[in-house]
Amino acid sequence: MSDWRLNGQEDYLSNKTLYKITFPEFWEIAYKDKNAFFRKIERYAKKHVKETNRGHEYLEGEKIQHFWHEHCEFCWEKALTDKLCTFYCTEDMYYWICEECFQDFQSEFNWQVGTTEELLSNSEL
Ligand SMILES: [Zn+2]
Repeated sequence: MSDWRLNGQEDYLSNKTLYKITFPEFWEIAYKDKNAFFRKIERYAKKHVKETNRGHEYLEGEKIQHFWHEHCEFCWEKALTDKLCTFYCTEDMYYWICEECFQDFQSEFNWQVGTTEELLSNSEL
C-alpha cells in the first residue's frame, strides 16, 4: 500500500504503546497538578530562556503552555495545548500521532494503548 503520510515511520513506531491525549483538558490538569507533562514543558522553557535570554514572558504562569507544540508524525497536523484536539503520543512524549492517523494506521503498526496514569508515572519524562 502507498499513502503520502508514510515515510519510514515503521522503523521507530511499530509495536509501540501509545497514550491518548485530549487538549485542552490534558493541559488544564497538567497545569493544576504540575505533573510530569507540565514539568517537561517548564524544563524546556527555562532552558530556552536561559540560553537565549529571550522569552521570559513564557515563564509567567499559564503562558508557559504556548512554549509547546508538536506535529503529527504522519500528516503534520499541529497539536496545541489550547486547541481542542486528540493525539496519541509515545511513552517519552517524543512522537505524536493525530486521531485520524491513529485510526488509519493502528492495525498496520500494531499499536497498543496505555493509560494516562501509566504515561505520567514515567520518571523519564
Ligand atoms: Zn495525522
